[in-house]
Amino acid sequence: MKLNHKEPMPRNLSADRDVVALGIAVAAAILFVGTGGTVMPQIVRAWMGHGGAPDVALINAVLLNIALLLFGWRRYRDLHREIAERRHAEGLARALAEIDPLTNCLNRRSGMPAIENLRQTAQNRGCELAVLMIDLDNFKSINDNHGHHMGDCVLMEASSRAKALLPPDGLMARIGGDEFLCAIVYEPFGFARIDSFASALVAAISAPIESANLTIEATVSVGVATSEEDVGGDAALDAAALVHRADLAMYHAKKQGRNRHFWFNPQLESDLRFRSEMETGIRQGILAGEFVPYFEQQIDLDTGKLVGFEMLARWHSPRFGVVSPEVFIPIAEEIDLIAELSECLIRQALNEAKDWHPSLTLSVNISPLQLRDPWFAQKILQMLVESGFPPQRLEVEITESCLHENIGSVRAIVASLKNQGIRLSLDDFGTGYSSLAQLRSLPFDRLKIDRSFIAEMANGGSNIELVEAIISLGRGLDLPVTAEGVENAEVLAQLQGIGDLKGQGFFYGQPEDSTTTRDRLAALDMLASPNVAPVESPMEQAVVARARRIAH
Ligand code: C2E
Ligand code: CA
Ligand code: CA
Repeated sequence: MKLNHKEPMPRNLSADRDVVALGIAVAAAILFVGTGGTVMPQIVRAWMGHGGAPDVALINAVLLNIALLLFGWRRYRDLHREIAERRHAEGLARALAEIDPLTNCLNRRSGMPAIENLRQTAQNRGCELAVLMIDLDNFKSINDNHGHHMGDCVLMEASSRAKALLPPDGLMARIGGDEFLCAIVYEPFGFARIDSFASALVAAISAPIESANLTIEATVSVGVATSEEDVGGDAALDAAALVHRADLAMYHAKKQGRNRHFWFNPQLESDLRFRSEMETGIRQGILAGEFVPYFEQQIDLDTGKLVGFEMLARWHSPRFGVVSPEVFIPIAEEIDLIAELSECLIRQALNEAKDWHPSLTLSVNISPLQLRDPWFAQKILQMLVESGFPPQRLEVEITESCLHENIGSVRAIVASLKNQGIRLSLDDFGTGYSSLAQLRSLPFDRLKIDRSFIAEMANGGSNIELVEAIISLGRGLDLPVTAEGVENAEVLAQLQGIGDLKGQGFFYGQPEDSTTTRDRLAALDMLASPNVAPVESPMEQAVVARARRIAH
């Protein structure tokens, strides 16, 4: 279909021209009736031989009149057609501006006003409006793996399946790449109908899509919000507020594991507020030095000797108090501050640990995201050089989950850490799915059994066999093992019976801040005198010298 690109004629101007052309035709018709009424009888009489020749001037006037009549009529007809064409083109342009060409849904621009109209219509009829935010979960990977053409097919299929479920007065808009909105009017308290509509939507869209001999599975998350007051506690929510709520609920559906629907509730809004306060707090807290290292003792279980510490991050937030890393680390990861935060913590820990007794090691935890940074090993090296901490006393703990993504780059980073003499342990072992082949192919120095296995040993659970199996696996791979979460003497005795292990846990004490750790070490006479350089073996001295050369 071709669009007329001429400037659309203003409506009143085209109507004026219409009237003028019609006026000319009508005036010509009246004149024709007047002059024709006089001339025609003369012509007829002359033709029948009953009178003289008709008045030539009058005949000319009639002919002129006929010409004028024809001209006026043609002009009127042309103008009429032109206006109809222009109106059609205008309609088409408007439709293109309001309709998403791929899915034939309303687009972002027209969707919101349409939802607001529907809301007002519903309100006037004493009904309610439900808004559903629909987001495909794996659209990016469909595009990446099967190409944009297949991505388009999935969008078309998803929207047509959703439209097939929509009641006649419902509407659907595509408001982003893979985001759609549905709005449906329903009777007050008709939540069950909306709930089954949302379930049907998820089931329909996530059913396999067959296209070009391929079967694609596109799962979807749906957030639901309604205009009914008791849901949110606010009266008369407009379309924008409903869409915002549906959006929040959709994100929650994703967080809960995707391929499901979730209803908005006011808690989501306060979660969002809390989350945004946390984000601001983390940004400011890094600058204000609110993140500090705590240290948890690591013990040789057989001798009871202190052999090192694991650094565990704590946030001393003026707003939230002491915050656990389990709360702020995932947020720092999401807002892309984890590297900055981790470096600031490791730097403090190295500075603190450099005058501990040289037999003591320092373990630090690393986020999988940090292993995506190709400069990560260099950054660690730089910090070691700046603090003068020997690389052999540093142990980097990486979790099994790191091994699932981009193993190639993990391998390269691990190799350069090892080249610097840094030791590597596999943290939370048993909670991930690393294969034995992977374990053998990466140069780990130690396995750490996750504390969840150790905790259950105390209850006389079947985990003893599991822990034994992990320890013998470590033995088979020639890797020493650390048991996390040793909470009592009973567990300690069981572990001592199994083998030669290191352990850590609340039985030996909670993680402590720098000052308390320092006091503990002073009492054990394990603090190097501040004025005396840490004792380094010739081997350590050589590695530090090499590290300095590489870092510069
Ligand atoms: P993780 O590496 O498994 O660290 C051990 C966690 O177990 C610590 O929790 C510690 O306080 C706790 N724990 C130690 N002994 C016991 C015990 O006997 N019983 C019980 N129930 N728990 C015990 P925390 O400090 O809350 O750290 C949680 C997780 O946060 C850590 O788990 C680690 O994965 C992560 N994390 C901590 N600091 C950092 C950091 O600087 N960077 C990164 N990326 N992650 C960190
Ligand atoms: Ca750890
Ligand atoms: Ca753990």
